[in-house]
Amino acid sequence: MKKAAKILIPVLCVLLIGAAFGGYVWYNKTYHPSKWLAEGDDAMQVVDAYQQSLEALPDMENTWQEALPQTVIHDLVEAHFAAPLPEGKTEKKAIVIGYDGCLVDTFRLLGTAKKSAINMLLKQQNGHAIFTYAGGVNYPGENTQATSTAPGWCSMLTGVLADVHHITNNGQPKEVEPKTLLLSLVEDGTVDKSAFYVSWDGHFSKKSATYYPEKVYARQEGVNAPYRRALFDPGTKLNILHDLKKKDCSDFIFSTLEYTDHAGHSSGFSLGNVKYVSAFRDADATGADIIAAIENRPSYDSEDWLILITTDHGGIGVSHGGSSMEERITFIVSNKEIPTAAETE
Ligand SMILES: [Zn+2]
Repeated sequence: MKKAAKILIPVLCVLLIGAAFGGYVWYNKTYHPSKWLAEGDDAMQVVDAYQQSLEALPDMENTWQEALPQTVIHDLVEAHFAAPLPEGKTEKKAIVIGYDGCLVDTFRLLGTAKKSAINMLLKQQNGHAIFTYAGGVNYPGENTQATSTAPGWCSMLTGVLADVHHITNNGQPKEVEPKTLLLSLVEDGTVDKSAFYVSWDGHFSKKSATYYPEKVYARQEGVNAPYRRALFDPGTKLNILHDLKKKDCSDFIFSTLEYTDHAGHSSGFSLGNVKYVSAFRDADATGADIIAAIENRPSYDSEDWLILITTDHGGIGVSHGGSSMEERITFIVSNKEIPTAAETE
């Protein structure tokens, strides 16, 4: 026994020392602050890679640093209706087609798209695309409002930010004031009829929804502005196409499609996610059908249409609301010129 102990004890000692050393190495590799720094460096590289991917987008007219606030949607629509009718045109119309939660780097997919509303607009003589931003302030400044759905669309529909419209998150019913374009354009006599087509129930379909009080007000006051919700995006498309088939279709249409937002939340806001890529293709193909329906209107030649495609925010991982570039840098594509920041000053 004594002989065995003489061998066993040193062996055990060596094993213990080995285990302690191994544990120390593992700890340092996994949890040591130097490891966090290395991860920090990796994170910086990811940010740089996303910036570089935005800088490489060929269709954008401004840089992401020159991005305009998403409220510019409101101003573009108002300016369109305020401008004189071009020669040969007898009526003005406008539509906003929103791709909810659409990363701007989806533009990298346009080259391989079979059916794309964005490509349709960019191919037009005055087709333009610009960077915009959600969150109230451009990256890398601190967000003044969440990159969430309700604050985003509300900023576009009212032309003001959350400090004025007070919509800081989803599930907050907005006061009727400040009025959205859907109400203001009809009430001031700019247009005869506007329409709001969506499938998300957070817009106006439940009492906690953003525009629920506005929908009630519109009905009570007899404002010619229907708020229609379909169960899913194909239903939203059908509602829009049905409207566009009418001889006297809505003069201003505001719509959102949920394809990209749903895919992002369920499996990731990323071009590396085939489901997200496919959702973008679905949204952009739906947009293409809507634009084709506009162009096929018998009275199209005498109508002066403003067509805008935009998004309320991007996303990172499976969520959004924060201040990363992926969540904050958005876009507008238009069939008409978009005054850049320098021109609007
Ligand atoms: Zn959204």
